[in-house]
Amino acid sequence: MLTLPFAVALFSQAADVPAATPDPQIAAALHDVSAERIQQTIEKLVSLGTRHTLSSDMPASSGKGANAAAAWIQSEFKRYSNDCGGCLEVKTDEFIQEPAPRVPKPTKITNVYAVLRGSDPANAGRIVLVTGHYDSRNSDPIDATAPAPGANDDGSGTAVSLECARVISKHRFPATIIFLTVAGEEQGLNGSAHFAKMALAQGWNIEAVLNNDIVGGDRTPGDTMQDPHVVRVFSEGIPATADEKQLKTIRALGGENDGPSRQLARYVASVAKEYLSPATFQPLVVFRRDRYLRGGDHFSFNEQGYAAVRLTEFRENYNHQHQNVRTENGIEYGDLPKFVDYDYTANVARLNAATLASLASAPAPPANVRLLTKGLQNDSTVVWEPSPGGLATGYEVLWRDTAGPDWQHAQSVGNVTRATLPLSKDNVVFAVRAVDAQGHRSLAVMPMPER
Ligand SMILES: [Zn+2]
Repeated sequence: MLTLPFAVALFSQAADVPAATPDPQIAAALHDVSAERIQQTIEKLVSLGTRHTLSSDMPASSGKGANAAAAWIQSEFKRYSNDCGGCLEVKTDEFIQEPAPRVPKPTKITNVYAVLRGSDPANAGRIVLVTGHYDSRNSDPIDATAPAPGANDDGSGTAVSLECARVISKHRFPATIIFLTVAGEEQGLNGSAHFAKMALAQGWNIEAVLNNDIVGGDRTPGDTMQDPHVVRVFSEGIPATADEKQLKTIRALGGENDGPSRQLARYVASVAKEYLSPATFQPLVVFRRDRYLRGGDHFSFNEQGYAAVRLTEFRENYNHQHQNVRTENGIEYGDLPKFVDYDYTANVARLNAATLASLASAPAPPANVRLLTKGLQNDSTVVWEPSPGGLATGYEVLWRDTAGPDWQHAQSVGNVTRATLPLSKDNVVFAVRAVDAQGHRSLAVMPMPER
């Protein structure tokens, strides 16, 4: 137990949140990310004509449609697996979607994924996941035959999942990483909803989901408003699954900005500082679940109680989303490869790979984190249960002003499960994270009040 005088001594040395030392294995994986490979992936997906979910009655052998896309993605994952001695388990989650809005008849949907099983049995049950949707559409949401190239939406996100699988599978991590590609997004998030429900039903411990959708960094000639150095990271603040009692607590403590998905968004931002040059590429954390009028596959995971964020390019070009390929009044419509900035998508892949690898290297977050609120005191005591899995060698208490967007201070408190800091709990937001001997850090967890 950390008593108050000791805490005061430590507190006097408390610094701003220190930058972690990059892990050479993670840096090597990022180095392998290739814009050229990403281009090849997107061009292959586009060559299938359409990947519309309702095209799944066409055989894969036709070389067109959703089944051909699923088969090709599987073959890519298997190829990566062959290069790493069979390290990836390549799987499908196939089901019949019953009629629903935008699904006029029972329709086969196939999610394709690869699992890089964690190397540490005590941590292999922990999962981090990257996803993109391989289905595409044009102007008509139920047109399953006319061209729907979907280079950016969401060939780019699919390419990020594949490229992460390719570069990360050359390395081993204590926790499990899943590289997912889903269909049915454009028809109503059907593929991801099925996958997330399956994960919950099977008790999967998914710590983080990174959903990449429209990460092609539109480079339409003449568009001067695009920022090729920024990717937006959207996250919910209040968990979609919070019940009335939890909402009451969140309202009482001002926890609207500290749900698990928001902590994941902050984690992505911290990883970017560690592994990417800010002049080259950085995330713009947006405190919003998604863009106005839009949704995405991260919702499906949020709705099952999982932390999930969405990455999307800085500025979207709506002429190149959900449009029939055509030219009108000199404007080119359609989601074509020529508008994708492959270097941009490669940077998005690096940010994803760094986040996945950092989380899969790090200890599990501390469990049952609480802030003691038994009496009126000007100091604050936080207690927790050890990070499961045995990787943690210590803990850090983080805090920030209540009006601050990101953690401003970190106090290393040693390998303990209780810390008292000479700070009023009324004036700051606290969180606790686990760290290992190499400096890998878990997701931060905001304490719940305990009386
Ligand atoms: Zn999309």
